[in-house]
Amino acid sequence: MAVLEVKNLNLGFECEDSFKQALFDVSFELERGKMHALVGESGCGKTISAMSILKLLPKTAKITSGEILFEGADLPELSEKEMQKIRGAKIALIPQDPMTALNPLYTVGNQIMEVIETHRNGQSAFEKAVEALERVHIPCAKDRMKSYPHEFSGGMKQRAIIAMALACSAQILIADEPTTALDVTIQAQIMKLLNEIKPETAILLITHDLALVSENADFVSVMYAGRVVESAPAHNFFQNPNHPYSLALLSSLPAAGAAKLETICGQPPSIHQEISGCRFHPRCKKCMEICTKEIPPVYEVGKNHYSACFLNK
Ligand code: SF4
Repeated sequence: MAVLEVKNLNLGFECEDSFKQALFDVSFELERGKMHALVGESGCGKTISAMSILKLLPKTAKITSGEILFEGADLPELSEKEMQKIRGAKIALIPQDPMTALNPLYTVGNQIMEVIETHRNGQSAFEKAVEALERVHIPCAKDRMKSYPHEFSGGMKQRAIIAMALACSAQILIADEPTTALDVTIQAQIMKLLNEIKPETAILLITHDLALVSENADFVSVMYAGRVVESAPAHNFFQNPNHPYSLALLSSLPAAGAAKLETICGQPPSIHQEISGCRFHPRCKKCMEICTKEIPPVYEVGKNHYSACFLNK
């Protein structure tokens, strides 16, 4: 059963002289015990979709329609005070750069205890914080409570941030490119840790790394220019990718022995660019006349597998 549902979310930004739409009918679900990957190039709307869940949006952003349902409430309708009770406690964020996510002036222990004291009254914050650090495999956790962030390595900082989410038993974990700033061995450790805690939470993994997705995710939604263009269980997606954008992303992965690295020509459009029809059509090798004029509907192309492309007509 879904813990959180994003339904037909439309969002845009007030610009100097006009309103520019950035998300178009974005829908996806998060389930306890599952990792849902939002995939796409930079600027495709992955992070802004996730930040909409936390209601951490720039002042110029405006949700024009759609719902984000969590515990019977529509999150965009909640007040800032109500959202403060949810952020960190029920929905936690693992940011892209652990180096800047911790306050350098406070010990790691103090920062974890602050989260516990804010959201979980009546529990021993110190013991809970030590327990959380132990769960993320920080050695000598009790002693490391007194360490400052600069005394932690990059991987340890990221684990300390995951510990904050664990300390409050967050139901949803939003991991925004959680391993981008880390080297590959630490990346593997962080993903192993996320898989360890997956049974007790629902994870939204935001990434452009399809290799990471193939090894870890249960469900995949591919975003392009503010729209979900393909969604499927991970196994089906990698067995049978359908959308030309997904195929282009997969073929641009480096392969052993390949003579040439495939690329996708052009760039994702900015929100200032008006694009008629399919938003991928200026870069699509299979573009047809209809693609330049009409928005492709979403077609069911397999069990729980959907693709927004006219080739499925
Ligand atoms: Fe390409 Fe047309 Fe499909 Fe868009 S609808 S992805 S332009 S074939």
